[in-house]
Formats: sequence, C-alpha cells, structure tokens
Amino acid sequence: MSREHQVTVDERGSFTFAHCTCGWSAPARRSRDRSRRDATEHLAEEQPAGTPRP
Ligand SMILES: [Zn+2]
Repeated sequence: MSREHQVTVDERGSFTFAHCTCGWSAPARRSRDRSRRDATEHLAEEQPAGTPRP
C-alpha cells in the first residue's frame, strides 16, 4: 500500500495555509505563493525524486 500525499492550500481570512492528507500542515502564511512553496517542499521531502530502489 502506498501512502498518498495530497496537499491542499486553504484560505482563512487573509491567511493561507497548506495541509496534506498525511496529517502534515504548514503554518498560516499571508501569501498563497508561500503556502504553495510549503506544499512543494513537503512533497519533495516525503517523495524524493529518483530515490534508488533495488
Ligand atoms: Zn504529506
């Protein structure tokens, strides 16, 4: 079974924050771009590209 990471960026008032189906969430940001970056960094950490697998 593979655990999926689906990150969503939500708005709350004038803030945005990213959260993931795995339970991870980023702190609230004033910039949606920053939240998207949080999301990208989370995915990069959890699913490193080109990980060698025997
Ligand atoms: Zn995740």
